[in-house]
Order: sequence, then structure tokens, then C-alpha cells
Amino acid sequence: MNKDKRILITGAAGFIGSHLCDRFVNEGFQVIGMDNLITGDMKNIEHLFPLPNFQFYHQDVSRYVHVPGELHYILHFASPASPVDYVKWPIQTMKVGSLGTHNCLGLALSKKSRILVASTSEVYGDPLVHPQTEEYWGNVNPVGPRSMYDEAKRFQEAITMAYHNAHKLDTRIVRIFNTYGPRMRLNDGRVLPNFFYQAITGQDITVYGDGSQTRSFCYVSDLVDGIYRLLFSDYAMPVNVGNPDEITISQFAEEIITLTKTDQKVVYKPLPIDDPKQRQPDITKAKSLLGWEPKVHRSEGLKITYEYFKKALGK
Ligand code: UDP
Repeated sequence: MNKDKRILITGAAGFIGSHLCDRFVNEGFQVIGMDNLITGDMKNIEHLFPLPNFQFYHQDVSRYVHVPGELHYILHFASPASPVDYVKWPIQTMKVGSLGTHNCLGLALSKKSRILVASTSEVYGDPLVHPQTEEYWGNVNPVGPRSMYDEAKRFQEAITMAYHNAHKLDTRIVRIFNTYGPRMRLNDGRVLPNFFYQAITGQDITVYGDGSQTRSFCYVSDLVDGIYRLLFSDYAMPVNVGNPDEITISQFAEEIITLTKTDQKVVYKPLPIDDPKQRQPDITKAKSLLGWEPKVHRSEGLKITYEYFKKALGK
């Protein structure tokens, strides 16, 4: 019975963390959310506070984790995750991926919990293999402007496998590709909130570089379902979860302009250093191991997200 199972979710007040809390609360689990709130927002989880199966701990997982009682599952999702955020919080990003992961693994060992850690397509860096399969080792600059995130997440995968191999800990690793949906922070600097914010507030749409770089955007409910299935699978190696529907950033800007019916123009800004030129998940593994594939088409997901951002901006 799910109601007898306790799960800790770190990064609970963040974009993906809060949607995970919703899913596990709705499935009847006893959910403990944890966040230090440097990039998370209590608004994302305030609707859960009245529920008997949700508790919140305002704690920094990089410093310590104390959770009394049994714990059956841990989802480690705490981390700044947008390029703008991790440049603003470089040390915290490195600490939560390394010390925070170590703390979670130690907690999982002591409680005999299964642990799933949030990794990222950034482990592939600026990929030379396309689409990216889990077997690709990546092309990462260890000292570049994204290195605090990329290398922390690569360390996280390595220490998770070390605990799996040395202690036989029950571990899962999800490699998350670009994800979007309600509760993204309007000012988190990522392409989708930026474009919506600009379109809604009457500013020009800023495309970095020539806009030929690609991304593949996954709606958050699809991602959460992939993570849920991975947690309950028996597969310990990393699994890509993302939507393979790849698009250039220029095309993406046009889609936002059409959806929002804005009169704003596209303006071009310099491409950030080490910005990956292409990104598309190979989801063969997720399909065969988890019976998972994304269901929400971008046209549908963008409409829902647009409504959320309009409301957030009082429009
Ligand atoms: N980007 C852009 N305009 C913006 C913000 C981002 O053209 O206002 C580009 C960015 O250079 C990158 C892509 O959009 O090529 C996705 O960037 P994001 O920050 O969302 O995340 P990333 O996928 O790079 O981690």
C-alpha cells in the first residue's frame, strides 16, 4: 500500500520537484519535501500543506539531512538547474550535486531506501553524438561556464554508481532533457520563460546566436511519469527521459510569437560560451525498459504554459 511508504523529495519547492510532490501525494505516499529555497518557491507547494500526507522540511541537503523514522524512497532533485541560476550560485550548485548527493546516499544506506538521483542531458556537454544515447560519454569542458553544473552532475552519477557497486544500494539515475510547464520561474533565464515573458510584456524576443542550435522540449507531466516508472523499475544504469521532438531555437521563437500573437520582433544576442549546438534524447531505453514515451505535444503543452505565465503576470 502506498500509504505505508514514505518518500523524501529534495528540491521539493522547485519546478520539477513540486510536480513530483504532487504525483506522489496523489498516489497516496507519505511525502516529505525538502528545500533550502535558494531557487525554489514555497508557492509551488503551498497547496500541499493542508494535506495529511505532506510535510515540508526547510533544510539545506548539502549541509545535513535529518529525517526521523522510516524512509522507503529518496528522490534527489535539489539543484539550481538553469544556466543563469548555476552561474549565480556556482558553489551551491557544486555542493548540492556532490555533498548533497553524498548526504542523500548515506541517508538511503542508513534507512535502506531506494534512491533516484536527477541527472541531466548536460552530462553530454556539447554533444558530438546525435541523438544522445546513454552510452555516449559526452563532450564537457571541465572549467567552462557550465562546468559547475555539468561536472557536479557527472560526479553525482559516479558516486551513485559507487554506492550501488560498493554497498549494493538500490539506485536509479534519470538523465533529464529540457523540460517545461507551469511553475517554471519567469526569471530563471531559460529560453521558454524568457520568450513568454518578453512576448507578454511587450519586449523583443532574444534569440542567442543565429538560432540554429536545437533543443527538444518535454512537458513536465510526461517527465514526471517517466521518473515514476523508472523509480519502480529495476534498472540501475542511467536512463534518458525527454521528448525527442527536436526544434531550432529560431523555430521555437516563431512558435511562441504565433501562439502569443505578439507584435514583437526577434533580436539576436551573442551565443553564450559552450552553449550546446544540438540536443535530442534517444529514448529507446525508456521505451523498452519503462514502456514510456511522451504524450503531450508541444502545441498543447505550450498553450497550458502560456496560460500559467499570463496569470502569473496578471494578464
Ligand atoms: N536562449 C535564447 N534566448 C534566451 C534564452 C536562451 O536563444 O533568451 C537559447 C540558449 O542560448 C540555448 C537555448 O536557448 O541555446 C536553451 O537555453 P536554456 O537556457 O533554456 O537551457 P539549456 O538547454 O541551454 O540548458
